[in-house]
Amino acid sequence: MSDSPQFISGSEIRQKFLDFFAQREHKILPSASLVPEDPTVLLTIAGMLPFKPIFLGQRKSEYDRATTSQKCIRTNDIENVGRTARHHTFFEMLGNFSFGDYFKEQAIKWAWELSTEVFALPPERLIISVFEEDDEAFAIWKDKIGIPARRIQRMGEEDNFWKSGATGPCGPCSELYYDFHPELGDDNIDLEDDSRFIEYYNLVFMQYNRDAEGNLTPLASQNIDTGMGLERMAQILQKVPNNYETDLIFPIIKKAAEIAEIDYHKADEKTKISLKVIGDHVRSVVHMIADGITASNTDRGYVLRRLIRRVIRYGRLIGIYEKRGVSFNFTPEVAEVAIALSESVYPSVREREAVIKDQLKREENQFLKTLQRGEKLLSEVIERVKKEQKTVIPGEDAFTLYDTYGFPLELTQEIAAEQDLTVDVEGYNKAMQIQIDTSQGAHETIDLTVQGSIDKLAEHIHPTEFLGYTEAQSTVKVEAVLVEGKTVETGEAGTEIQVILDRTPFYAESGGQIGDRGYLTGDNLLVRIEDVQKESGFFVHYGRIERGSITTGDSVVNATIDRACRRRAQAHHTATHLLQSALKKIVDDSISQAGSLVAFDRLRFDINCPRPITPEELQQIEEQINTWIAEAHDTQTSVLGLEEAKAKGAIAMFGEKYGAEVRVIDVPGVSLELCGGTHVRNTAEIGLFKIVSETGISSGVRRIEAVAGTAVLEYLNVRDKVVRELGDRFKAKPEEILDRVGNLQSELKTTQKELDALKQELAVAKSDQLLNQAEAIGDFKILVAEMGDLDPKALQTAGERLQQKLGEAAVVLGSIPAEGKVSLVAAFSHKVNKDKKLQAGKFIGKIAKICGGGGGGRPNLAQAGGRDASKLPEALEAAKKQLIEALQ
Ligand code: ATP
Ligand code: MG
Repeated sequence: MSDSPQFISGSEIRQKFLDFFAQREHKILPSASLVPEDPTVLLTIAGMLPFKPIFLGQRKSEYDRATTSQKCIRTNDIENVGRTARHHTFFEMLGNFSFGDYFKEQAIKWAWELSTEVFALPPERLIISVFEEDDEAFAIWKDKIGIPARRIQRMGEEDNFWKSGATGPCGPCSELYYDFHPELGDDNIDLEDDSRFIEYYNLVFMQYNRDAEGNLTPLASQNIDTGMGLERMAQILQKVPNNYETDLIFPIIKKAAEIAEIDYHKADEKTKISLKVIGDHVRSVVHMIADGITASNTDRGYVLRRLIRRVIRYGRLIGIYEKRGVSFNFTPEVAEVAIALSESVYPSVREREAVIKDQLKREENQFLKTLQRGEKLLSEVIERVKKEQKTVIPGEDAFTLYDTYGFPLELTQEIAAEQDLTVDVEGYNKAMQIQIDTSQGAHETIDLTVQGSIDKLAEHIHPTEFLGYTEAQSTVKVEAVLVEGKTVETGEAGTEIQVILDRTPFYAESGGQIGDRGYLTGDNLLVRIEDVQKESGFFVHYGRIERGSITTGDSVVNATIDRACRRRAQAHHTATHLLQSALKKIVDDSISQAGSLVAFDRLRFDINCPRPITPEELQQIEEQINTWIAEAHDTQTSVLGLEEAKAKGAIAMFGEKYGAEVRVIDVPGVSLELCGGTHVRNTAEIGLFKIVSETGISSGVRRIEAVAGTAVLEYLNVRDKVVRELGDRFKAKPEEILDRVGNLQSELKTTQKELDALKQELAVAKSDQLLNQAEAIGDFKILVAEMGDLDPKALQTAGERLQQKLGEAAVVLGSIPAEGKVSLVAAFSHKVNKDKKLQAGKFIGKIAKICGGGGGGRPNLAQAGGRDASKLPEALEAAKKQLIEALQ
């Protein structure tokens, strides 16, 4: 950076860009949030995203032209951060947009004018790319602008053709590059060579519509979408070697370097990379938290947590904690610099300063602990692997690190890469799967044996076909019968069995929803099914033969689910989706699911949320859900390809694995989720929804329990019974119970007070008997005595009173008010304080130490406590001895 007169700051660049287009009738709009309205993407990744509905023709724009500086996060560039000169996770994209207004030629002309006149880039340093088939753009650049043909590169579809999906609007792009080394000439131009070129401005000409067959037809309303990287322009104009050394980021790097006592410019390459990563990620996390994202283990919360953790790790790498100690909170300090840098343009970062810093501090403290334990273990693993002359860290080790130490896989991979090692990801996934399989609880012991038999079955029978989305009953064939986990030919009446069918209407537990109940019937056969679990693609029906026998190969068996149970599960399942939507709407959009249970009698929903949900919010949530229920929304189920589902707006949970085809449950306008469960056809079927409890189950995770449908009635009946019993006991009507209990409580309080007063009186009476035990020492009287189980307050009254009666005196009393508790009191007259320099507070504090405690108070009256009651006699003896010595 230089402060020479030509220096142009990042802020000035941003302003010049916006002004340029404002002068050309563009409406300047503020940056949209990093949390996009568009549910198909986790974070805002480009300036055009907020306008996507306009470009797709779903919404009309109020303006024909707009210009913005848009905050963006691109995590797909995370590996490039600090390594290339131009990639960030957080950056600002300057853009000019035309909605059916000006098009290709105008966009190109303005891009050129802006580059060469406003920013005064020398024309001979600029180089252009166009889509290989876009002769029109080529001609405009060559003939209208005057760029030599050899400095216009034609590029393929991959680089220079924009589309938002397989179908819909699309079109060619044209990019502007800056040439750092024009002296190398125009032969062998390679725009990928980033030591020579940097792409700074991309113009998208939204020209066509692509239909399902892939045909392109010209759009009636053609659009312009552009993006210029602010940091890249700053690098060019500020003449620094990379984006990181611009005034937009460098102050953060400088601060981190200062804390680590490093000089950035003298640092080695690895340290520089660490500092650049810190400089980049800190901006990301500050803006993400400012936009309402909370660190968690799913979705964008996970992206945030990962970025914070990387800041901490790279901070650790450059020795921050070595220099400042592990209790030093480094992240809030660097965040402050990032906040100060952008508050004038994005005031929310300052407004949310406390939230940002608190959250960073919390994450930092938590992660440092994880790191210390995990890194130690990992370095042992690395050492072992190297000793064995291998290059791959076993998946099991990586999994242990994750499972036991919370050490993320990507971190293990990063650290491994620093040592030229890789991680066996497949092995990691396998270990994860085994863990999931064995932790499914209920059938734990039996599962393992069933699993062995089932693996063998898989060699000759097909996975079970599931009919239960549409059917409640069907004729099925028995493929296998198992007793105690072993396949048998026939199961007889009275035995507990597992049955595998060729197809089934029974839902097997998954996605939180428990398995169906029901019956298998046939000629004199009755099997009661209690649970269904999925194992290696087979639906294993757990049940008991009530009547008759069942034999492998039987084909006239009827499988019938318990419809009432299914209806109850469905009500709870759809209610769970509504609950998720209501939480996002009412509490915080960044709330994400951490787990769920959908049962017949209740639902349980765990969420990542850093604070309790307030009673008011819970009430609002309940009301909102009941409104949705009353509005009788139809639910729509469709089976789509994952891409298509995402395009519709369904967000896949981070880390969840989906097949190529996914099921989407849509309550239009209310909820859209990927889900394999069974649901009501209309929200009205849920009937009623009631929240039962809200509790914290671990740091940052809350649990909501609720009931829906007929389960609400059961819940209310239980409550009602309690109320009725209370009413009987208190001889009160339900609405009178509260008053009655209130009265009882205050009566109890009065009684307690009276009891206390009596105890005090007793203490006084007791203490009076002690008066004649006082001994005269010099001019003073001393009295040291044990007072049985007097409580501290009564003990104090007694001490005070005795001292007053004795006049110039020092009184020390002790008692054992409860098991394992010692109470001590010292009451010294004024003269004791003055002539003998003896202070009750200090004195009793020392004595209390003998009983494993402490305390203090005023010079003339002090109280102390201890825990070791057996030491009380010893303590009182010491008190007496010291008093005698001091007062003689
Ligand atoms: P690159 O090939 O350099 O990764 P891109 O083709 O991904 O760039 P676009 O998607 O066209 O970039 O985005 C438009 C502009 O936004 C780019 O010209 C660039 O100036 C800027 N930009 C894109 N990605 C980043 C990033 N990760 N960090 C900083 N600026 C970026
Ligand atoms: Mg890119």
